[in-house]
Amino acid sequence: MAQLILNHVSKDFGTGKPAVTGVSLNIREGGFLALLGPSGCGKTTVLRMIAGFEQPSDGEIFLGEWRLADVNAMVPPEKRNMAMVFQSYALWPHMSVAENVGYPLKVRGVGRAARDRKIREALEAVRLEAYADRRPADLSGGQRQRVALARCLVTDPDVVLLDEPLANLDRHLRQEMEETFREFHARSGASMIYVTHDQAEAMALATDVAVMAEGRLLQLASPQEIYARPEGRLVGGLIGQGAILHLAWPVGADRALEWPALQACFGPKPGAHLADVLVRPQDVVISDEGLDVVVETAVFEGERHALRLRLPDGQTLRAFSRRPVTVGERIRVVIRSAWRL
Ligand code: ADP
Ligand code: MG
Repeated sequence: MAQLILNHVSKDFGTGKPAVTGVSLNIREGGFLALLGPSGCGKTTVLRMIAGFEQPSDGEIFLGEWRLADVNAMVPPEKRNMAMVFQSYALWPHMSVAENVGYPLKVRGVGRAARDRKIREALEAVRLEAYADRRPADLSGGQRQRVALARCLVTDPDVVLLDEPLANLDRHLRQEMEETFREFHARSGASMIYVTHDQAEAMALATDVAVMAEGRLLQLASPQEIYARPEGRLVGGLIGQGAILHLAWPVGADRALEWPALQACFGPKPGAHLADVLVRPQDVVISDEGLDVVVETAVFEGERHALRLRLPDGQTLRAFSRRPVTVGERIRVVIRSAWRL
């Protein structure tokens, strides 16, 4: 096993607009990387190039020292020791759960006894021991996805590629499955690349998050880093909740400011340098002092009320409140900290 390296990888299908442009990634051995971005941004294409289903039109892919692909040559998918799990599960309907899980081993000519042992271990790993003889049609969506996971465990892959594996499941089941993925990752020791357009899922699962938009990599960092210090407006808008404001940011100031240094940024500033600034809702505190705002919307979410607040200049902020707040009410807020994008 070794780290997976993408070096300025591009893919142009000849449609006039490249699907992937100059993506460089480095996934350490045993790492768990989420590839996050809106639909159509090139996530699946990146995964398919890593798996060997597509050849890059530029750049190189390595597993350690091993050159997997470049413009001139590529190692075929079956020689890469990678496993890919799809949104659609892709199980054989006429085979039992155990036969589905054992199929990759059968293809590789692994003997009966070894195969049965591997199948049992893999089914235990996803807690489906009791379902070995069932058919996929008799299982729930979550159970089918676990069969697909078990099937990729049996071959001891170096790299597991997951393309939006939870997209077909409902919200409740998705949270349960996130737990399965974490256990699966810890147990398999494989490097995992998990494609999703759901930022909460990416943050909850991965040790590293790569944010993509329009075929390009915008930022690669830990979930904590990417949440606290997003690079640019696109990442700031994609990750977590918050409002992006235009503020008169003082020249030479740090990228993070706290109240009261921040206070001076609000209000008209002729000739000032306007910057995009991200304000997280939990950093907006209802107070006796601070900015004068009007409550535009208030949504009861159970634990709290989610508010949209309008500043005097028409820009909007997001905030949470423990106590009920009335739409149209004037309140005051202090912004604990803001981040310049
Ligand atoms: P995502 O998985 O992020 O939704 P994709 O990688 O599937 O994005 O697609 C990225 C872009 O490449 C899209 O514009 C898509 O239409 C295009 N694309 C993907 N595969 C092909 C293909 N085989 N031929 C032509 N265009 C493709
Ligand atoms: Mg896709």
